[in-house]
Amino acid sequence: MNKESPQSMAADRPVLTVVVAMAVLAGLLILATRSTAAPGHVAADGTARGSTQESAAPAATGEPDRLTVVDPADVVGVEETELSYDGDVTANVTYPVLSNAEPLTDFLARALHGDVAAFEAANPGAESYTGAWSLTAADDDLVGVRMASTETDSEGARECHTTYWYEADTGLVHGSNQLIAGQDELAELAGLIRRQAADDVRAPALHPVAALFDSVGFNPSGDLVVEFDAGQVAAPAAGPVHVVVERDEAEPLLSELGVRARDAATVGVEAFALAGRPEADKDGVSDEQPGVIPPVDDDVDCSDPETRCVALTYDDGPGRRTPELLDALAEYDARATFFVTGVPVMEHPRIVRRAYAEGHEIANHTLSHPDLSAMSRSAARSELETVQAQVYRETGYTMDLMRPPYGATDDGIASVTEEMGLAQILWSVDTMDWRDRDASVVTERALDGASPGAVILMHDIHGSTVRASHRIIRQLDARGYTMVTVSQLLGTTSPGAAYHHGGPEEDTEGAEDGRGSYRHESDEERGGD
Ligand SMILES: [Zn+2]
Repeated sequence: MNKESPQSMAADRPVLTVVVAMAVLAGLLILATRSTAAPGHVAADGTARGSTQESAAPAATGEPDRLTVVDPADVVGVEETELSYDGDVTANVTYPVLSNAEPLTDFLARALHGDVAAFEAANPGAESYTGAWSLTAADDDLVGVRMASTETDSEGARECHTTYWYEADTGLVHGSNQLIAGQDELAELAGLIRRQAADDVRAPALHPVAALFDSVGFNPSGDLVVEFDAGQVAAPAAGPVHVVVERDEAEPLLSELGVRARDAATVGVEAFALAGRPEADKDGVSDEQPGVIPPVDDDVDCSDPETRCVALTYDDGPGRRTPELLDALAEYDARATFFVTGVPVMEHPRIVRRAYAEGHEIANHTLSHPDLSAMSRSAARSELETVQAQVYRETGYTMDLMRPPYGATDDGIASVTEEMGLAQILWSVDTMDWRDRDASVVTERALDGASPGAVILMHDIHGSTVRASHRIIRQLDARGYTMVTVSQLLGTTSPGAAYHHGGPEEDTEGAEDGRGSYRHESDEERGGD
Protein backbone atom coordinates (compact mmCIF):
# COMPACT_ATOMS: atom_id res chain seq x y z
CA MET A 1 0.00 0.00 0.00
CA ASN A 2 2.81 2.42 0.84
CA LYS A 3 5.31 1.08 -1.64
CA GLU A 4 5.02 3.93 -4.10
CA SER A 5 7.91 6.34 -4.29
CA PRO A 6 7.20 10.08 -4.32
CA GLN A 7 8.13 10.11 -8.03
CA SER A 8 5.57 7.54 -9.03
CA MET A 9 2.91 9.32 -6.99
CA ALA A 10 3.69 12.55 -8.81
CA ALA A 11 3.57 10.74 -12.12
CA ASP A 12 0.14 9.43 -11.24
CA ARG A 13 -1.36 12.82 -10.76
CA PRO A 14 -2.10 13.79 -14.37
CA VAL A 15 -3.77 10.42 -14.84
CA LEU A 16 -5.90 11.04 -11.78
CA THR A 17 -6.91 14.43 -13.13
CA VAL A 18 -8.06 12.84 -16.35
CA VAL A 19 -10.02 10.22 -14.43
CA VAL A 20 -11.72 12.91 -12.36
CA ALA A 21 -12.57 14.91 -15.48
CA MET A 22 -14.05 11.84 -17.12
CA ALA A 23 -16.04 11.07 -13.99
CA VAL A 24 -17.48 14.58 -13.97
CA LEU A 25 -18.38 14.22 -17.63
CA ALA A 26 -20.01 10.86 -16.96
CA GLY A 27 -21.95 12.42 -14.10
CA LEU A 28 -23.23 15.16 -16.39
CA LEU A 29 -24.25 12.58 -18.95
CA ILE A 30 -26.11 10.60 -16.31
CA LEU A 31 -27.89 13.74 -15.13
CA ALA A 32 -28.77 14.60 -18.74
CA THR A 33 -30.16 11.17 -19.50
CA ARG A 34 -31.90 10.68 -16.14
CA SER A 35 -34.89 12.88 -16.91
CA THR A 36 -35.56 11.09 -20.16
CA ALA A 37 -35.14 7.58 -18.80
CA ALA A 38 -38.13 5.34 -18.42
CA PRO A 39 -39.27 5.34 -14.80
CA GLY A 40 -37.31 2.74 -12.98
CA HIS A 41 -35.46 -0.30 -14.06
CA VAL A 42 -38.15 -2.87 -13.48
CA ALA A 43 -38.71 -4.77 -16.67
CA ALA A 44 -42.17 -4.96 -18.19
CA ASP A 45 -42.80 -8.38 -16.63
CA GLY A 46 -42.02 -6.88 -13.24
CA THR A 47 -39.39 -9.48 -12.40
CA ALA A 48 -36.02 -8.01 -13.11
CA ARG A 49 -34.06 -5.04 -14.18
CA GLY A 50 -34.28 -4.27 -17.88
CA SER A 51 -30.82 -4.37 -19.33
CA THR A 52 -31.70 -1.75 -21.93
CA GLN A 53 -31.98 0.90 -19.25
CA GLU A 54 -28.80 -0.06 -17.42
CA SER A 55 -26.88 2.94 -18.66
CA ALA A 56 -29.66 5.30 -17.66
CA ALA A 57 -29.70 4.24 -13.99
CA PRO A 58 -29.47 7.22 -11.64
CA ALA A 59 -26.52 7.56 -9.28
CA ALA A 60 -26.64 6.22 -5.74
CA THR A 61 -26.92 8.92 -3.10
CA GLY A 62 -25.27 9.44 0.25
CA GLU A 63 -22.26 10.94 2.02
CA PRO A 64 -18.78 9.57 1.26
CA ASP A 65 -18.25 8.39 4.84
CA ARG A 66 -21.73 6.99 5.34
CA LEU A 67 -23.81 4.15 4.00
CA THR A 68 -25.72 4.80 0.78
CA VAL A 69 -29.20 6.16 1.38
CA VAL A 70 -32.14 4.84 -0.62
CA ASP A 71 -35.32 6.90 -0.55
CA PRO A 72 -38.14 4.51 0.41
CA ALA A 73 -40.31 6.43 -2.07
CA ASP A 74 -38.22 4.83 -4.82
CA VAL A 75 -39.17 1.35 -3.62
CA VAL A 76 -42.57 0.05 -4.60
CA GLY A 77 -45.00 -0.85 -1.84
CA VAL A 78 -42.97 -0.08 1.30
CA GLU A 79 -44.98 0.32 4.45
CA GLU A 80 -43.97 0.94 8.00
CA THR A 81 -45.08 -0.95 11.05
CA GLU A 82 -44.48 -0.63 14.75
CA LEU A 83 -42.92 -3.26 16.99
CA SER A 84 -45.15 -4.56 19.74
CA TYR A 85 -43.24 -5.02 22.97
CA ASP A 86 -44.76 -5.73 26.35
CA GLY A 87 -41.74 -5.49 28.65
CA ASP A 88 -41.10 -2.74 31.20
CA VAL A 89 -39.01 -0.58 28.91
CA THR A 90 -40.85 1.93 26.75
CA ALA A 91 -40.24 0.76 23.19
CA ASN A 92 -40.95 2.89 20.16
CA VAL A 93 -39.52 0.97 17.23
CA THR A 94 -40.62 1.05 13.61
CA TYR A 95 -39.48 -1.19 10.79
CA PRO A 96 -40.26 -1.56 7.10
CA VAL A 97 -42.63 -4.02 5.51
CA LEU A 98 -41.77 -4.66 1.85
CA SER A 99 -44.03 -6.41 -0.62
CA ASN A 100 -42.99 -9.99 -1.29
CA ALA A 101 -40.55 -10.00 1.62
CA GLU A 102 -42.38 -11.81 4.44
CA PRO A 103 -39.20 -13.52 5.71
CA LEU A 104 -37.61 -10.08 6.15
CA THR A 105 -40.62 -8.74 8.03
CA ASP A 106 -40.73 -11.77 10.31
CA PHE A 107 -37.01 -11.60 10.92
CA LEU A 108 -37.06 -7.89 11.80
CA ALA A 109 -39.95 -8.37 14.22
CA ARG A 110 -38.05 -11.16 16.00
CA ALA A 111 -34.60 -9.54 15.93
CA LEU A 112 -35.80 -6.13 17.10
CA HIS A 113 -37.87 -7.65 19.87
CA GLY A 114 -34.78 -9.58 20.95
CA ASP A 115 -32.69 -6.39 20.90
CA VAL A 116 -35.11 -4.50 23.13
CA ALA A 117 -35.43 -7.48 25.49
CA ALA A 118 -31.63 -7.84 25.75
CA PHE A 119 -31.26 -4.10 26.42
CA GLU A 120 -33.86 -4.34 29.17
CA ALA A 121 -32.36 -7.47 30.71
CA ALA A 122 -28.77 -6.19 30.59
CA ASN A 123 -29.46 -2.80 32.15
CA PRO A 124 -31.12 -2.52 35.53
CA GLY A 125 -31.52 1.20 34.73
CA ALA A 126 -33.04 0.68 31.27
CA GLU A 127 -35.68 3.29 30.47
CA SER A 128 -36.56 3.48 26.80
CA TYR A 129 -35.62 2.17 23.40
CA THR A 130 -36.44 3.84 20.12
CA GLY A 131 -35.66 2.47 16.70
CA ALA A 132 -36.00 3.88 13.20
CA TRP A 133 -35.19 2.30 9.86
CA SER A 134 -33.73 3.34 6.55
CA LEU A 135 -32.76 1.54 3.39
CA THR A 136 -29.17 1.44 2.12
CA ALA A 137 -29.54 -0.74 -0.97
CA ALA A 138 -32.33 -2.00 -3.18
CA ASP A 139 -31.34 -3.75 -6.37
CA ASP A 140 -30.90 -7.19 -7.89
CA ASP A 141 -33.35 -8.81 -5.45
CA LEU A 142 -31.30 -7.56 -2.54
CA VAL A 143 -32.32 -5.05 0.13
CA GLY A 144 -30.20 -3.48 2.87
CA VAL A 145 -32.07 -2.33 5.96
CA ARG A 146 -30.27 -0.13 8.46
CA MET A 147 -31.71 0.26 11.94
CA ALA A 148 -30.77 3.25 14.07
CA SER A 149 -31.73 2.80 17.69
CA THR A 150 -31.38 4.95 20.78
CA GLU A 151 -31.09 3.22 24.11
CA THR A 152 -31.76 5.35 27.15
CA ASP A 153 -30.90 4.20 30.65
CA SER A 154 -29.99 5.89 33.92
CA GLU A 155 -26.59 6.78 32.44
CA GLY A 156 -28.00 8.61 29.42
CA ALA A 157 -28.77 7.89 25.78
CA ARG A 158 -26.71 5.92 23.32
CA GLU A 159 -27.20 5.53 19.58
CA CYS A 160 -26.54 2.17 17.91
CA HIS A 161 -26.75 0.90 14.35
CA THR A 162 -27.37 -2.49 12.84
CA THR A 163 -27.60 -3.26 9.15
CA TYR A 164 -29.32 -6.37 7.76
CA TRP A 165 -29.16 -7.71 4.22
CA TYR A 166 -32.12 -9.50 2.72
CA GLU A 167 -31.77 -11.78 -0.32
CA ALA A 168 -35.18 -12.15 -1.91
CA ASP A 169 -34.16 -15.12 -4.05
CA THR A 170 -33.38 -17.29 -1.02
CA GLY A 171 -35.63 -15.52 1.49
CA LEU A 172 -32.66 -15.26 3.89
CA VAL A 173 -31.70 -12.31 6.06
CA HIS A 174 -27.99 -11.92 6.70
CA GLY A 175 -26.10 -9.99 9.34
CA SER A 176 -23.46 -7.53 8.18
CA ASN A 177 -20.71 -9.98 9.17
CA GLN A 178 -21.76 -12.14 6.24
CA LEU A 179 -20.66 -9.49 3.77
CA ILE A 180 -17.14 -10.61 4.67
CA ALA A 181 -15.75 -13.80 3.14
CA GLY A 182 -14.57 -15.57 6.28
CA GLN A 183 -12.89 -15.30 9.66
CA ASP A 184 -9.45 -14.64 8.14
CA GLU A 185 -10.84 -11.84 6.02
CA LEU A 186 -12.65 -10.34 9.00
CA ALA A 187 -9.40 -10.44 10.98
CA GLU A 188 -7.67 -8.76 8.05
CA LEU A 189 -10.35 -6.08 7.91
CA ALA A 190 -9.95 -5.47 11.64
CA GLY A 191 -6.18 -5.15 11.17
CA LEU A 192 -6.65 -2.77 8.26
CA ILE A 193 -9.00 -0.59 10.31
CA ARG A 194 -6.56 -0.56 13.23
CA ARG A 195 -3.81 0.74 10.97
CA GLN A 196 -5.91 3.07 8.89
CA ALA A 197 -8.00 4.61 11.65
CA ALA A 198 -5.40 4.55 14.41
CA ASP A 199 -6.50 8.01 15.59
CA ASP A 200 -10.17 7.10 15.90
CA VAL A 201 -10.05 3.48 17.00
CA ARG A 202 -8.45 2.07 20.14
CA ALA A 203 -6.68 -1.00 18.83
CA PRO A 204 -7.22 -3.20 21.93
CA ALA A 205 -10.98 -2.65 21.58
CA LEU A 206 -11.20 -3.90 18.02
CA HIS A 207 -11.62 -7.64 17.52
CA PRO A 208 -12.93 -9.65 14.58
CA VAL A 209 -16.25 -10.54 16.20
CA ALA A 210 -19.64 -10.29 14.53
CA ALA A 211 -21.04 -8.14 17.34
CA LEU A 212 -18.66 -5.31 16.38
CA PHE A 213 -19.22 -5.68 12.65
CA ASP A 214 -23.00 -5.55 12.81
CA SER A 215 -23.43 -2.46 10.67
CA VAL A 216 -21.40 -2.78 7.51
CA GLY A 217 -22.36 -1.41 4.12
CA PHE A 218 -21.10 0.72 1.28
CA ASN A 219 -21.03 4.36 0.31
CA PRO A 220 -22.31 5.41 -3.13
CA SER A 221 -18.83 4.81 -4.64
CA GLY A 222 -18.67 1.25 -3.35
CA ASP A 223 -16.14 1.84 -0.58
CA LEU A 224 -16.78 -0.34 2.46
CA VAL A 225 -18.20 1.55 5.44
CA VAL A 226 -18.04 0.05 8.93
CA GLU A 227 -20.10 1.74 11.63
CA PHE A 228 -19.10 1.27 15.26
CA ASP A 229 -21.48 2.37 17.99
CA ALA A 230 -20.48 4.98 20.54
CA GLY A 231 -18.09 3.52 23.11
CA GLN A 232 -17.39 0.32 21.19
CA VAL A 233 -13.96 1.13 19.81
CA ALA A 234 -13.41 4.64 21.15
CA ALA A 235 -14.32 6.69 24.19
CA PRO A 236 -18.11 7.03 24.46
CA ALA A 237 -17.78 10.82 24.21
CA ALA A 238 -16.32 10.44 20.71
CA GLY A 239 -19.71 9.15 19.52
CA PRO A 240 -20.15 6.61 16.74
CA VAL A 241 -17.06 5.91 14.62
CA HIS A 242 -17.30 5.40 10.85
CA VAL A 243 -14.41 3.83 9.00
CA VAL A 244 -14.22 3.83 5.21
CA VAL A 245 -12.13 1.18 3.46
CA GLU A 246 -11.46 1.89 -0.19
CA ARG A 247 -13.33 -0.20 -2.71
CA ASP A 248 -10.23 -1.89 -4.14
CA GLU A 249 -8.82 -2.67 -0.73
CA ALA A 250 -12.14 -4.08 0.49
CA GLU A 251 -12.88 -6.15 -2.60
CA PRO A 252 -10.75 -9.23 -1.74
CA LEU A 253 -12.31 -9.37 1.73
CA LEU A 254 -15.91 -9.59 0.53
CA SER A 255 -18.07 -12.68 0.27
CA GLU A 256 -20.24 -13.22 -2.80
CA LEU A 257 -23.05 -11.63 -0.84
CA GLY A 258 -20.74 -8.72 -0.04
CA VAL A 259 -19.99 -8.08 -3.71
CA ARG A 260 -23.67 -8.29 -4.52
CA ALA A 261 -24.52 -5.89 -1.68
CA ARG A 262 -21.85 -3.46 -2.83
CA ASP A 263 -23.14 -3.50 -6.39
CA ALA A 264 -26.67 -2.93 -5.12
CA ALA A 265 -25.56 -0.04 -2.92
CA THR A 266 -23.80 1.76 -5.77
CA VAL A 267 -26.70 2.13 -8.20
CA GLY A 268 -29.52 4.59 -7.94
CA VAL A 269 -32.97 3.27 -7.28
CA GLU A 270 -36.17 4.00 -9.12
CA ALA A 271 -39.39 2.08 -8.63
CA PHE A 272 -37.56 -0.97 -7.27
CA ALA A 273 -39.71 -3.97 -6.51
CA LEU A 274 -38.78 -7.40 -5.23
CA ALA A 275 -39.36 -9.99 -7.91
CA GLY A 276 -41.74 -12.25 -6.14
CA ARG A 277 -42.08 -14.79 -3.43
CA PRO A 278 -38.78 -16.31 -2.42
CA GLU A 279 -37.84 -19.61 -3.99
CA ALA A 280 -37.45 -22.50 -1.61
CA ASP A 281 -34.03 -23.45 -2.96
CA LYS A 282 -31.32 -22.19 -0.65
CA ASP A 283 -28.50 -24.23 -2.16
CA GLY A 284 -25.22 -22.47 -2.53
CA VAL A 285 -25.91 -20.10 0.35
CA SER A 286 -22.81 -19.86 2.47
CA ASP A 287 -23.20 -20.78 6.11
CA GLU A 288 -19.93 -19.01 6.86
CA GLN A 289 -20.39 -16.81 9.92
CA PRO A 290 -17.33 -14.59 10.24
CA GLY A 291 -16.94 -13.25 13.75
CA VAL A 292 -19.00 -16.00 15.39
CA ILE A 293 -16.46 -17.93 17.44
CA PRO A 294 -17.43 -21.31 18.91
CA PRO A 295 -15.97 -22.28 22.31
CA VAL A 296 -15.20 -25.75 20.96
CA ASP A 297 -12.41 -26.56 18.51
CA ASP A 298 -13.34 -29.52 16.30
CA ASP A 299 -9.68 -30.40 15.88
CA VAL A 300 -9.25 -31.20 19.58
CA ASP A 301 -10.49 -34.58 20.85
CA CYS A 302 -10.58 -34.81 24.64
CA SER A 303 -11.79 -38.43 24.50
CA ASP A 304 -8.34 -39.37 23.22
CA PRO A 305 -6.28 -40.06 26.39
CA GLU A 306 -3.21 -38.73 24.58
CA THR A 307 -4.78 -35.29 24.45
CA ARG A 308 -4.75 -34.93 28.26
CA CYS A 309 -7.37 -32.20 28.44
CA VAL A 310 -7.57 -29.88 31.40
CA ALA A 311 -9.87 -26.87 31.90
CA LEU A 312 -8.53 -23.73 33.53
CA THR A 313 -11.43 -21.66 34.84
CA TYR A 314 -11.35 -18.07 36.06
CA ASP A 315 -14.18 -16.57 38.09
CA ASP A 316 -15.43 -13.15 39.18
CA GLY A 317 -13.80 -11.13 36.38
CA PRO A 318 -12.85 -9.81 34.01
CA GLY A 319 -10.30 -7.79 35.91
CA ARG A 320 -7.69 -5.20 35.11
CA ARG A 321 -5.00 -7.85 34.66
CA THR A 322 -7.06 -10.27 32.60
CA PRO A 323 -5.44 -9.04 29.34
CA GLU A 324 -2.08 -10.16 30.71
CA LEU A 325 -3.58 -13.59 31.38
CA LEU A 326 -4.97 -13.65 27.84
CA ASP A 327 -1.48 -12.90 26.52
CA ALA A 328 -0.10 -15.86 28.48
CA LEU A 329 -2.82 -18.18 27.21
CA ALA A 330 -2.23 -17.02 23.63
CA GLU A 331 1.48 -17.70 23.92
CA TYR A 332 0.76 -21.40 24.49
CA ASP A 333 -2.33 -21.58 22.27
CA ALA A 334 -4.24 -22.48 25.44
CA ARG A 335 -7.96 -21.95 26.04
CA ALA A 336 -9.69 -21.16 29.31
CA THR A 337 -13.20 -20.50 30.57
CA PHE A 338 -14.15 -17.19 32.16
CA PHE A 339 -17.10 -17.28 34.54
CA VAL A 340 -17.88 -13.59 34.44
CA THR A 341 -19.81 -11.45 36.89
CA GLY A 342 -22.09 -8.56 35.89
CA VAL A 343 -20.34 -5.48 37.27
CA PRO A 344 -16.91 -6.41 35.87
CA VAL A 345 -18.54 -7.12 32.49
CA MET A 346 -19.97 -3.58 32.51
CA GLU A 347 -16.57 -2.18 33.49
CA HIS A 348 -14.52 -4.20 31.01
CA PRO A 349 -16.72 -5.10 28.05
CA ARG A 350 -13.72 -4.99 25.71
CA ILE A 351 -11.88 -7.65 27.69
CA VAL A 352 -14.92 -9.92 27.44
CA ARG A 353 -14.93 -9.34 23.70
CA ARG A 354 -11.25 -10.09 23.42
CA ALA A 355 -11.53 -13.34 25.40
CA TYR A 356 -14.42 -14.38 23.16
CA ALA A 357 -12.53 -13.40 20.01
CA GLU A 358 -9.55 -15.52 21.08
CA GLY A 359 -11.61 -18.68 21.46
CA HIS A 360 -12.05 -18.75 25.22
CA GLU A 361 -15.39 -19.69 26.67
CA ILE A 362 -17.48 -17.06 28.42
CA ALA A 363 -19.81 -18.41 31.08
CA ASN A 364 -22.29 -16.95 33.54
CA HIS A 365 -21.36 -16.26 37.19
CA THR A 366 -24.37 -14.00 38.06
CA LEU A 367 -24.79 -10.25 38.25
CA SER A 368 -23.86 -9.62 41.88
CA HIS A 369 -22.34 -12.89 43.10
CA PRO A 370 -25.01 -13.87 45.64
CA ASP A 371 -25.66 -17.28 47.18
CA LEU A 372 -28.33 -18.28 44.68
CA SER A 373 -29.56 -21.12 46.88
CA ALA A 374 -30.64 -18.54 49.47
CA MET A 375 -32.75 -16.58 46.98
CA SER A 376 -36.17 -17.00 45.42
CA ARG A 377 -36.14 -18.73 42.05
CA SER A 378 -37.22 -15.58 40.27
CA ALA A 379 -34.44 -13.52 41.89
CA ALA A 380 -31.88 -16.20 41.00
CA ARG A 381 -33.16 -16.25 37.46
CA SER A 382 -32.90 -12.49 37.16
CA GLU A 383 -29.27 -12.61 38.44
CA LEU A 384 -28.41 -14.98 35.61
CA GLU A 385 -30.53 -13.31 32.92
CA THR A 386 -28.81 -9.96 33.33
CA VAL A 387 -25.35 -11.40 32.66
CA GLN A 388 -26.71 -13.58 29.88
CA ALA A 389 -27.98 -10.41 28.14
CA GLN A 390 -24.82 -8.39 28.87
CA VAL A 391 -22.51 -10.95 27.30
CA TYR A 392 -24.88 -11.43 24.37
CA ARG A 393 -24.88 -7.70 23.68
CA GLU A 394 -21.07 -7.47 23.79
CA THR A 395 -20.24 -10.60 21.85
CA GLY A 396 -23.37 -11.97 20.18
CA TYR A 397 -22.71 -15.17 22.13
CA THR A 398 -25.35 -17.00 24.12
CA MET A 399 -23.68 -18.74 27.06
CA ASP A 400 -24.38 -22.43 27.77
CA LEU A 401 -22.67 -22.72 31.15
CA MET A 402 -22.96 -21.10 34.56
CA ARG A 403 -21.18 -21.50 37.86
CA PRO A 404 -23.12 -20.84 41.04
CA PRO A 405 -21.17 -18.47 43.35
CA TYR A 406 -19.61 -20.37 46.28
CA GLY A 407 -20.64 -23.56 44.46
CA ALA A 408 -23.96 -23.14 46.27
CA THR A 409 -26.68 -24.92 44.37
CA ASP A 410 -29.83 -26.89 45.06
CA ASP A 411 -32.88 -28.27 43.29
CA GLY A 412 -34.30 -24.79 42.77
CA ILE A 413 -31.12 -23.62 41.00
CA ALA A 414 -31.08 -26.83 39.00
CA SER A 415 -34.56 -26.09 37.70
CA VAL A 416 -33.86 -22.39 36.99
CA THR A 417 -30.69 -23.23 35.07
CA GLU A 418 -32.47 -26.03 33.23
CA GLU A 419 -35.17 -23.59 32.08
CA MET A 420 -32.48 -21.16 30.96
CA GLY A 421 -30.49 -23.79 29.04
CA LEU A 422 -27.45 -23.50 31.33
CA ALA A 423 -25.40 -26.39 32.68
CA GLN A 424 -23.91 -25.91 36.16
CA ILE A 425 -20.15 -26.16 36.29
CA LEU A 426 -18.43 -26.76 39.60
CA TRP A 427 -14.76 -27.80 39.82
CA SER A 428 -12.46 -30.65 40.77
CA VAL A 429 -9.40 -28.63 41.84
CA ASP A 430 -9.72 -25.63 44.15
CA THR A 431 -6.57 -23.51 44.24
CA MET A 432 -7.97 -21.35 47.10
CA ASP A 433 -6.35 -18.45 45.29
CA TRP A 434 -8.87 -15.96 46.70
CA ARG A 435 -7.58 -16.70 50.21
CA ASP A 436 -3.90 -17.34 49.57
CA ARG A 437 -2.62 -14.50 47.42
CA ASP A 438 0.67 -16.22 46.84
CA ALA A 439 1.60 -17.13 43.29
CA SER A 440 3.84 -20.07 44.33
CA VAL A 441 1.15 -21.63 46.48
CA VAL A 442 -1.49 -21.21 43.76
CA THR A 443 0.84 -22.63 41.13
CA GLU A 444 1.62 -25.66 43.28
CA ARG A 445 -2.03 -26.42 43.99
CA ALA A 446 -3.03 -26.11 40.36
CA LEU A 447 -0.20 -28.33 39.16
CA ASP A 448 -0.64 -30.90 41.94
CA GLY A 449 -4.34 -31.11 41.18
CA ALA A 450 -4.01 -31.27 37.41
CA SER A 451 -4.95 -34.56 35.80
CA PRO A 452 -6.73 -35.34 32.54
CA GLY A 453 -10.31 -34.08 32.88
CA ALA A 454 -9.62 -31.70 35.77
CA VAL A 455 -11.56 -28.47 36.16
CA ILE A 456 -9.29 -26.03 37.99
CA LEU A 457 -10.84 -23.11 39.87
CA MET A 458 -9.08 -19.74 39.96
CA HIS A 459 -9.96 -16.03 39.96
CA ASP A 460 -8.51 -13.63 37.40
CA ILE A 461 -9.20 -10.59 39.59
CA HIS A 462 -6.13 -11.35 41.71
CA GLY A 463 -2.67 -10.31 40.56
CA SER A 464 -1.15 -13.31 42.35
CA THR A 465 -3.36 -15.62 40.26
CA VAL A 466 -2.39 -13.93 37.02
CA ARG A 467 1.29 -14.28 37.98
CA ALA A 468 0.73 -17.91 38.94
CA SER A 469 -1.07 -18.56 35.68
CA HIS A 470 2.02 -17.76 33.63
CA ARG A 471 3.80 -20.64 35.37
CA ILE A 472 0.78 -22.94 35.45
CA ILE A 473 0.21 -22.59 31.72
CA ARG A 474 3.87 -23.07 30.88
CA GLN A 475 4.14 -26.13 33.14
CA LEU A 476 0.92 -27.77 31.97
CA ASP A 477 2.06 -27.29 28.39
CA ALA A 478 5.43 -28.83 29.21
CA ARG A 479 3.70 -31.80 30.85
CA GLY A 480 1.76 -32.52 27.70
CA TYR A 481 -1.64 -31.15 28.73
CA THR A 482 -4.04 -29.49 26.33
CA MET A 483 -5.74 -26.55 27.99
CA VAL A 484 -9.31 -26.43 26.74
CA THR A 485 -12.62 -24.73 27.45
CA VAL A 486 -15.10 -26.45 29.75
CA SER A 487 -17.43 -27.13 26.80
CA GLN A 488 -14.54 -28.77 24.98
CA LEU A 489 -13.73 -30.87 28.02
CA LEU A 490 -17.29 -31.99 28.72
CA GLY A 491 -18.72 -32.21 25.22
CA THR A 492 -22.48 -31.72 25.12
CA THR A 493 -23.86 -30.76 28.52
CA SER A 494 -27.40 -31.03 29.87
CA PRO A 495 -29.01 -27.80 31.08
CA GLY A 496 -29.56 -27.90 34.84
CA ALA A 497 -27.12 -30.77 35.42
CA ALA A 498 -24.05 -30.13 37.61
CA TYR A 499 -20.55 -31.11 36.48
CA HIS A 500 -17.31 -31.19 38.43
CA HIS A 501 -14.93 -33.01 36.23
CA GLY A 502 -14.49 -34.25 32.69
CA GLY A 503 -11.87 -36.91 33.24
CA PRO A 504 -11.90 -40.41 31.84
CA GLU A 505 -10.57 -42.13 34.96
CA GLU A 506 -13.84 -42.66 36.83
CA ASP A 507 -17.61 -42.95 36.42
CA THR A 508 -17.16 -43.39 32.73
CA GLU A 509 -19.97 -45.86 32.28
CA GLY A 510 -22.67 -44.57 29.98
CA ALA A 511 -21.37 -41.05 30.14
CA GLU A 512 -19.85 -40.91 26.73
CA ASP A 513 -21.52 -38.45 24.42
CA GLY A 514 -21.33 -37.33 20.82
CA ARG A 515 -17.96 -35.67 21.27
CA GLY A 516 -16.59 -38.70 23.00
CA SER A 517 -15.83 -36.94 26.24
CA TYR A 518 -16.57 -38.30 29.66
CA ARG A 519 -18.18 -36.59 32.56
CA HIS A 520 -19.69 -37.29 35.88
CA GLU A 521 -22.43 -35.45 37.61
CA SER A 522 -22.97 -34.63 41.21
CA ASP A 523 -24.74 -31.95 43.16
CA GLU A 524 -23.09 -32.46 46.50
CA GLU A 525 -19.92 -30.43 46.67
CA ARG A 526 -19.71 -26.91 47.97
CA GLY A 527 -16.65 -24.78 47.79
CA GLY A 528 -15.24 -21.42 48.62
CA ASP A 529 -15.60 -19.82 45.21
ZN1 LIG B 1 -17.14 -16.40 42.31
